[in-house]
Amino acid sequence: MKEIKNHNLLKNQSFINNEWVNSFSNKKFPVYNPLDQSLIDQISDCGKQETKDAIHAANDAFGLWKSHTSNERSNIIKKWHDLILENKQDLASIITLEQGKTLKESLGEILYGASFVDWFAEEGKRIYGDTIPSHDSDKRIIVLKQPIGVVAAITPWNFPNAMITRKVAPALAAGCTVVIKPAEDTPLSALALAELSKEAGFPPGVFNVITTSDPDKVGKILTTSPQVKKVSFTGSSEVGKILMKQSASTVKKLSMELGGNAPFIVFDDADIDLAVEGAIISKYRNSGQTCVCANRIYIQSGIYDLFIEKFIKAVREQKTGSGFDENVSIGPLINKQALIKVKKLLKDAQNKGAKILLGGKEHKKGNNFFEPTVITNISNDMLISSEEIFGPIAPIYLFEEEEEVIEHANDTSAGLAAYFYGKDNSQIWRVAEALEYGMVGINTGFISTNLAPFGGVKESGFGREGSKYGIEEYLVLKYVCMQV
Ligand code: NAP
Repeated sequence: MKEIKNHNLLKNQSFINNEWVNSFSNKKFPVYNPLDQSLIDQISDCGKQETKDAIHAANDAFGLWKSHTSNERSNIIKKWHDLILENKQDLASIITLEQGKTLKESLGEILYGASFVDWFAEEGKRIYGDTIPSHDSDKRIIVLKQPIGVVAAITPWNFPNAMITRKVAPALAAGCTVVIKPAEDTPLSALALAELSKEAGFPPGVFNVITTSDPDKVGKILTTSPQVKKVSFTGSSEVGKILMKQSASTVKKLSMELGGNAPFIVFDDADIDLAVEGAIISKYRNSGQTCVCANRIYIQSGIYDLFIEKFIKAVREQKTGSGFDENVSIGPLINKQALIKVKKLLKDAQNKGAKILLGGKEHKKGNNFFEPTVITNISNDMLISSEEIFGPIAPIYLFEEEEEVIEHANDTSAGLAAYFYGKDNSQIWRVAEALEYGMVGINTGFISTNLAPFGGVKESGFGREGSKYGIEEYLVLKYVCMQV
């Protein structure tokens, strides 16, 4: 842990009611460094009772927090933002330590995560209601927007900081209180954010974090407690569906940020160098472990050979290794299961006729490393066409016509991000409108920003994070009819 200067950020207990607490059983679970499987720490392994305690604390704190003015809430949230930036280097090191991505990407994640805190600290002041012309001359119609109540935020390991701030900042700004359940592989980033929330001055119970190795048990309490009014989940579509079913029993408001299967299309008239650069960023960022990663790369026949030549050259330049090595751009996969999944997808593709042009094996660095890989001859019956790869494998498809590629691109249950490159204006509008996705990048492979609504359609979920839309997820409308 020599990389971390502010040791106060390194916590290994859950955070309930502004107190650091062990699990009642005193059980702990290990967190390993994906680089070499070394033990980073042992973390409190909480269960039902601690989760109930966190929900009670959040519920008790809700009355006070929502009664603060939006300016008062904003000042505390801004303080949290400033503390995140003051500690950005350490917070980034914590991400690299527990998640494996490069320090440069980790720093990018901290700044991205903090940008939501900054944005929503301001946006909380702009929760405007409505007055509506009345149906009756002696009645007045007013619409109030009020905080929904206690929010459960369940987050994944691939962005252990930003996936929390993207939910928690709008929730807190709206006047809600939160119980966060971070991923088992990456709880340290969540706990560091909790420590900074305490320093920022949030009242007890407003910000709670439950750490656990038993997500089913904790998730069951969070999704069925009548005191929790909203569940905001980022993770796989599979788990999202379970949480939706469980939440039905108490009819909770939901946000579901689920898995993707992004097509990345390059038309004949595209700027090939720009497309190669975008494909590298979109495919290999976070070792291929982002929900918006290019999962299927479609190249039109006129530029197919040239694109492949340039793409392979660019992939060869990527260095694999420790996230703390500044020459490295691809770190390890998160854990052994992730490596097994990537190998399974590749084997299935090979068995069905895929051709490996580059990589294709576990990396000689061992542990959770896999070689940056490029494959062609892909067919739709291969698992790699329908499943999220979540690893550094780039499958390249050949296509002839626009209609054909749109049909293939939309032929998936996912609908998160899609990308395409081209120069023809009419084609650009046609394709942008035809793609059944929540987000479309045109001539860019990087679309994430706090200013735009992030989210998907189809089985990639619903609800939006960031932008003016993000705060609506944590508000309920109340129509007031007044006789005058
Ligand atoms: P995951 O397995 O679905 O887990 C996500 C979170 O849910 C983790 O905290 C996990 O805890 C928890 N969880 C698992 N089973 C649960 C249950 N039965 N009840 C309650 N919580 C449960 O996903 P992941 O592997 O961490 O993350 C990768 C997935 O997230 C990919 O599909 C990716 O596309 C998606 N993602 C989507 C977005 C987006 O904005 N749309 C952003 C990032 C990632 P444990 O860690 O303890 O299992």
